[in-house]
Amino acid sequence: MSFNERTYIMVKPDGVQRGLVGKIIARFEERGFKLIALKLVQATEEHLEKHYADLKGKPFFPGLVKYMASGPVVGMVWQGLDAVKTGRAMLGATNPLASVPGTIRGDYALSVGRNICHGSDAVESAEKEIALWFPEGVAQYTQAQESWIFSDN
Ligand code: UDP
Ligand code: MG
Repeated sequence: MSFNERTYIMVKPDGVQRGLVGKIIARFEERGFKLIALKLVQATEEHLEKHYADLKGKPFFPGLVKYMASGPVVGMVWQGLDAVKTGRAMLGATNPLASVPGTIRGDYALSVGRNICHGSDAVESAEKEIALWFPEGVAQYTQAQESWIFSDN
């Protein structure tokens, strides 16, 4: 856990189609995370196979890749205290039916195959995903509100 931890969050094609991009961004902004990269991209199946390489061989893998390539996604990198674990908590459980209300999936989704968002599951995978989606690098800047979000004690 670190103050500068980074996580890769992605609005999936269904989230983009349903007009949920702004709401998802707002949740991370309002929580106090810092946006350091953002793009809308139509990913290729090849790229998505790399992103989901750990799931290759699962029965849902081909359908997952097709779903993720069915329209543009919004990829972003958020930075802040315990960003990976907190990001996952904000997303909710993989299966939206098991996601508590108040989480993104628990508020906006019903089905595991259309669960509107992705979040890195560990610091190591976050760094891999950031490198895959943002090979050009991410921004570095100081936010004026940081001392109002973090304290020294
Ligand atoms: N998925 C699916 N069926 C399943 C499990 C997962 O369609 O039985 C999809 C779902 O969109 C999920 C993605 O595959 O978000 C990646 O699965 P993972 O286990 O990594 O879940 P996540 O990290 O997204 O919560
Ligand atoms: Mg995952």
